Amino acid sequence: MLVLVGAGLGVNQALIHPDTPLPPEWNPLEPFDVAHAPSPLTDWKIRGLMAQPGACAAVLQVAANITPMPPLETYETCGIAQRVSVAGVGQASMRPFETTCEIALRTALWERYGLQPGSQDILGQGVREIRHYSSYNCRRIRTPSGESNRWSTHATARAVDVSGFVLDDGEVVDLRVHWDETGPKAAFLRHAQETACEVFGLVLGPEYNALHADHFHIQLDWTGCR
Ligand SMILES: [Zn+2]
Repeated sequence: MLVLVGAGLGVNQALIHPDTPLPPEWNPLEPFDVAHAPSPLTDWKIRGLMAQPGACAAVLQVAANITPMPPLETYETCGIAQRVSVAGVGQASMRPFETTCEIALRTALWERYGLQPGSQDILGQGVREIRHYSSYNCRRIRTPSGESNRWSTHATARAVDVSGFVLDDGEVVDLRVHWDETGPKAAFLRHAQETACEVFGLVLGPEYNALHADHFHIQLDWTGCR
């Protein structure tokens, strides 16, 4: 880019120049694509995508098995904006469920850049299914001492609960069964949690509290990863 700027092109012209050396994930003028590896610009690009109605589903349809749906409007505290039905992301199927397009989009990033390479490295094979307890649920937050007065991120489908994985050979990796083991399945589950933290805002797992012993609670809105 410096060479191109030095040749008399402005910064924007250098970025869109066909010979720009910037990879697309680092180029602010390149729109978001699941095929571009996550970078520090990814969140910003996804925000831009989500601001254009229908853009998320259009981009995601090439990288996931999704069906766009009209928004689910219930009442003030519950509903699903930019609703899609999801049956799989990348190479992994999912029991069909409805969620926000951004949850589906970030799940596709997690599958592609976290789950599949991690599963290949640690377990020597891919993930063919992501098991989950769904996304949308019009309810308040559950705590060990009972129901909070705050609404859950599930009430707006800005979260998904993932309970385990089925590998290419049919072996199951399950949070409740394998989290406390010491073998490769436990290592893969920790890798799965860490890489989810790289693409979502918050991931709560078995170490958070007993309510999460059998699943990762994965949500968009940021309060930090545990
Ligand atoms: Zn949850």
